[in-house]
Amino acid sequence: MKWRAQPVPDAERAAAAAAFLDGQEITRTQCVQCYSEIAGVNGRYACGNCGWVNPWTEGHKPLPTAEDDVPAPESPAG
Ligand SMILES: [Zn+2]
Repeated sequence: MKWRAQPVPDAERAAAAAAFLDGQEITRTQCVQCYSEIAGVNGRYACGNCGWVNPWTEGHKPLPTAEDDVPAPESPAG
């Protein structure tokens, strides 16, 4: 596998990403199916052991909408 340099985000994108991550909270619970301890984001979980997921409505915060999604910048290489 060949190593490739990752694109470095500009300061504005880095600040936007940091602001987004500030609003996220890592939460933990016990899987209701296999009793593994699992971690999720804002109360939404997917168990890597058995595949259980909780309903999205159990999340602690509303999900982002399409309006919240920022389009990716154009790739210079295409
Ligand atoms: Zn599980």
